[in-house]
Amino acid sequence: MEATTSNNLDPNIVGDWLRDGKAAIDFLRGVVSLLPKGVDRNRAAEQVEQAETALKKSEAAVAKDLGFALCQCTFPPQIMLWKEADKAHVCPRAECGHAIHRGMKISAEMLNRSRGANSWMGR
Ligand SMILES: [Zn+2]
Repeated sequence: MEATTSNNLDPNIVGDWLRDGKAAIDFLRGVVSLLPKGVDRNRAAEQVEQAETALKKSEAAVAKDLGFALCQCTFPPQIMLWKEADKAHVCPRAECGHAIHRGMKISAEMLNRSRGANSWMGR
């Protein structure tokens, strides 16, 4: 890593790290499914869930550091990814569908909508 970037996160390293974290959680989930049903299995499953939530939280924090937009429809927040076709950052949850259009001129329609009850300012 270059000295000038030592204080910044390297997206490649962070990406590997998060993928490893996800792989570990998938592995643990597989292990839990092999346990005999009962209290211990439920507790183990709960702990895997907690680890996954913790991973998602750090993922969101890293994404924010890297300049990604976050959708707050869930907690931990969803990381909004750029969709070239829509020219927008889009929430990965289909049922949410929140999109942030970049570099878009604000049209009269948008201005009118922003005054409505369903506007983003009203949330
Ligand atoms: Zn969303």
